[in-house]
Amino acid sequence: MSNGKTKTDVILIGTGIMSATLGTLLKELVPEWEITVFEKLENAGEESSNEWNNAGTGHAALCELNYTVEKPDGSIDINKAIKINEQFQVSMQFWAYLVKSKLINNPQDFIMPLPHMSMVQGEKNIAFLKKRFEALSNNPLFKGMEFSDNPEKLMEWIPLIMQNRPLNDPIAATKIDSGTDVNFGALTCMLFDHLKNKNVDIKYKHSVDNIKRTSDGSWELKVRNDSGNVERHTAKFVFIGGGGGSLHLLQKSGIPEGKHIGGFPVSGIFMVCNNPEVIAQHHGKVYGKAKVGAPPMSVPHLDTRYIDNKKSLLFGPFAGFSPKFLKTGSMFDLVTSVKPNNVLTMLAAGAKEMSLTKYLIQQVMLSKEQRMEELREFIPNAKSEDWDLVVAGQRVQVIKDTAEGGKGTLQFGTEVITAADGSIAALLGASPGASTAVHVMLEIIKKCFPQHMNEWEPKIKEMISSYGVSLMENPELLHEIHTSTAETLALSEKELVYS
Ligand SMILES: Cc1cc2nc3c(=O)[nH]c(=O)nc-3n(C[C@H](O)[C@H](O)[C@H](O)COP(=O)(O)OP(=O)(O)OC[C@H]3O[C@@H](n4cnc5c(N)ncnc54)[C@H](O)[C@@H]3O)c2cc1C
Repeated sequence: MSNGKTKTDVILIGTGIMSATLGTLLKELVPEWEITVFEKLENAGEESSNEWNNAGTGHAALCELNYTVEKPDGSIDINKAIKINEQFQVSMQFWAYLVKSKLINNPQDFIMPLPHMSMVQGEKNIAFLKKRFEALSNNPLFKGMEFSDNPEKLMEWIPLIMQNRPLNDPIAATKIDSGTDVNFGALTCMLFDHLKNKNVDIKYKHSVDNIKRTSDGSWELKVRNDSGNVERHTAKFVFIGGGGGSLHLLQKSGIPEGKHIGGFPVSGIFMVCNNPEVIAQHHGKVYGKAKVGAPPMSVPHLDTRYIDNKKSLLFGPFAGFSPKFLKTGSMFDLVTSVKPNNVLTMLAAGAKEMSLTKYLIQQVMLSKEQRMEELREFIPNAKSEDWDLVVAGQRVQVIKDTAEGGKGTLQFGTEVITAADGSIAALLGASPGASTAVHVMLEIIKKCFPQHMNEWEPKIKEMISSYGVSLMENPELLHEIHTSTAETLALSEKELVYS
């Protein structure tokens, strides 16, 4: 390096779970490649990946009702649930590989076993839950799921929710014990510690301001360092893992694949319980049903969480609106993301999504007491003084033109954008998010390095034995993987320690 200039093989922008995962995968596949990471904040995992900024659900579609929709003929479509479950198994296998190879330690610092439950009220919703249970419980991926509408059984499963509830309130739940609570913030930090040991150069307080193509097809980044000076860094491959900050950087790269795409920020608020007696009465993640008009990411849930090796209880997230794209972002983020190439897409989405905008604004205006009323649908006698509000992370939902939805369609999933020559990739969107980081980063590797895939596949299969295989169709392999990941990640023993 001279005069703040470097040349490297790979640059990762951002120190969230996505860059952490891609960096770790690449270091296993090609240890000799040089990797540099730029992060504008002081530490890793401070934005969406931080444990307080997301819900920590290991999304395997065990409890999230929005992954199984009722079709017009009344049957339940479980395809999305299968896809998400299979993707989560990929993450679990990679994490188990890292622990087994001693590249990271103490899995209990980032993953804990926790029953996942879905809870609904009212006859119509109960009929839906029962049909969903019947559709899923025959599938090997969802083995062990139970359904009950018996108040005594429910009292055993969810005492805090059942106590003080009128007996004639129809209520039902499903429960599956193979769910997890994942501390993505802790995992992100562990992965960056590991990368540092592997000589990855991680530069904190370095903000990437611009990205441009050089004449030899590499990418040059303009980076503002901690002293406010500008540095130039070049790499053959760049991953834009800036979370909510990725859209602006993608636009700056000028690649055609990044055009006609917009972003819509949705903020989140959790309620956190400060009363140890209440916290001790709940054990699980209990997902409810989204209210009419609510976006899928604001489905209310009452979650046991393990943060700093302590049991906590969180409810939410309540959605809200802020024009910032990152929690530490700018009030101008939304306005400056509108460009001549995406203005029509954004306007079309604005016209289509008036009801969502109205919903989000209503959510922002809720008083603490109104939020308590929503919580009381879960805990009938919840007391206001037992609960505090915490601001969660920002999500930037992708807006793009699609064949099915037409111009300006709001997307709720994760979008990978790569240049045609595979020299740059960006990750946009936020759901199912961190849980599927390994699958999504493997997709990026496949798209951006097709010339290396034959050589890398054996190593990928060593790390993730289900790579390229449907686990649903291979119940024996699924069983083997479940048993070995549970053992390596110590997912059956910890309740003794923490309850
Ligand atoms: C309320 C909420 C609940 C969620 N719940 C879950 C859940 O239960 N389970 C789940 O799996 N997922 C969940 N998610 C999604 C999950 O948190 C995200 O998908 C994931 O953390 C995104 O990781 P990332 O690495 O892309 O981004 P981030 O973690 O946001 O990291 C991006 C990093 O890039 C840095 N950066 C940005 N711009 C620049 C720049 N120009 N220069 C240098 N650095 C830059 C930022 O400072 C940040 O550190 C939730 C998200 C939210 C907001």
